[in-house]
Amino acid sequence: MSIEIKNVTKEYGLQKALNEVTFTVKRGEILGFLGPNGAGKSTLMKIITCYIPPTSGTVIVDGYDVREDSLEIRKKVGYLPEHNPLYLDMYVKEYLSFIAGLHKLPKKKEKVSNVVELVGLEIEQNKRIGELSKGYKQRVGLAQALIHDPNVLILDEPTSGLDPNQLADIREVIKRIGKEKTVMFSSHIMQEVEAICDRIVIINRGNLLVDQDANQIMKASSDRQIVRVEFDQVVSKNELKQIDGVSKVTQLKGNEWEISSLQSQDLRASISKFAGAKGILVLSLQKETQKLENIFKDLTH
Ligand code: ADP
Ligand code: MG
Repeated sequence: MSIEIKNVTKEYGLQKALNEVTFTVKRGEILGFLGPNGAGKSTLMKIITCYIPPTSGTVIVDGYDVREDSLEIRKKVGYLPEHNPLYLDMYVKEYLSFIAGLHKLPKKKEKVSNVVELVGLEIEQNKRIGELSKGYKQRVGLAQALIHDPNVLILDEPTSGLDPNQLADIREVIKRIGKEKTVMFSSHIMQEVEAICDRIVIINRGNLLVDQDANQIMKASSDRQIVRVEFDQVVSKNELKQIDGVSKVTQLKGNEWEISSLQSQDLRASISKFAGAKGILVLSLQKETQKLENIFKDLTH
């Protein structure tokens, strides 16, 4: 159940939302699809789920072409759209049973209770959707995406707007479900994909920037180092740049600096040495943990 995206371009009038995007989501993989707001994430997800056609290029889902076999693809794909549109007046089970009906599923009742269990909705299953917390509304959204037991799941910002506890819960659900399905989920937040993705694709302004193993990205990022330092007196940027191993120097404010290296060597030692030699005092010196977020910033600036 792979998704092959080849040279996909999407234009909305004069605006190009996707520009020749190519990558593959492999069978059984959890792919994190990242990019800032407006990058083109939702656009590509709508193309994969056959809600809008590409301007050019092809998308093949499990051997079926989105331009020709949309009915077939909709049977295989579960989709949680951005902003999760739900009928707030309906009861949870009533709504899920309605969705099961749209898919013309046999044994509706059984399907509903299975999916309620799968996403952990048991304790809220008899409520009206409008009465649920945001986290539980997302579970209802996941449940409607899963009810026909699709092999591919497309989740558009499934964790946006959740508090940290809800976020952790939904992550767990996605991780659990992802064991048996091909999952592509989008986010504009880095931390959450670090936790659960096998691979990461980053786009910005419709262009693909990164397509890599999550491990590789994490490794590359751990080789790089960022240190925040405060001196007791004025130091020039040029002096700091000459410190052994330093690749980038940014003044934060006054005598506070952010200094980064491309190698894994510890910058703190060389900064201390530099200060000692000049008779400057180091008031604070802190190593920043290098997060995907920083790579993201570097790439999208
Ligand atoms: P993301 O989901 O990454 O935030 P989108 O795919 O929603 O990005 O949007 C990509 C770009 O396309 C944005 O600049 C957005 O304004 C534009 N766009 C999205 N949908 C439409 C539309 N229906 N008509 C015109 N422009 C659109
Ligand atoms: Mg979006």
